Amino acid sequence: MTTSKNQYEIQKTEQEWKESLTPEEFKVLRKHGTERAGTSPLDKVYDEGTYVCKGCGQPLFTSDTKFNSGTGWPSFYQPLEGAIATTVDRTLFMTRTEVHCSRCGGHLGHVFNDGPKPTGQRYCMNGVSLKFVPEN
Ligand code: FE
Repeated sequence: MTTSKNQYEIQKTEQEWKESLTPEEFKVLRKHGTERAGTSPLDKVYDEGTYVCKGCGQPLFTSDTKFNSGTGWPSFYQPLEGAIATTVDRTLFMTRTEVHCSRCGGHLGHVFNDGPKPTGQRYCMNGVSLKFVPEN
């Protein structure tokens, strides 16, 4: 699914986003930043639970689909249905598929075709864009 900027359910001004996020979260979610590899505590988390969008709380991934990609970023082979949308990203002299939250448009990371079975996809996510909600 490809979306344009103004069709997201959650709409906030730049200032409102700034006030509701930490500077690092703002940089990644709203400015397409990338956290330094290996810096997210979530990279090493394999407990059962759900990963939700830091920007709007929408559930994005479950722990069932998380795997150790060795990249230093939290990685999943499949998102929850309808949770994410993608756009083509041609920055940094590469063509990549950018992944963002389908509800608020927040930038999450990129998806690559070198992931494990069953999907073969690798959703390479910034941990700072995610919040882990453990299963009770
Ligand atoms: Fe969101």
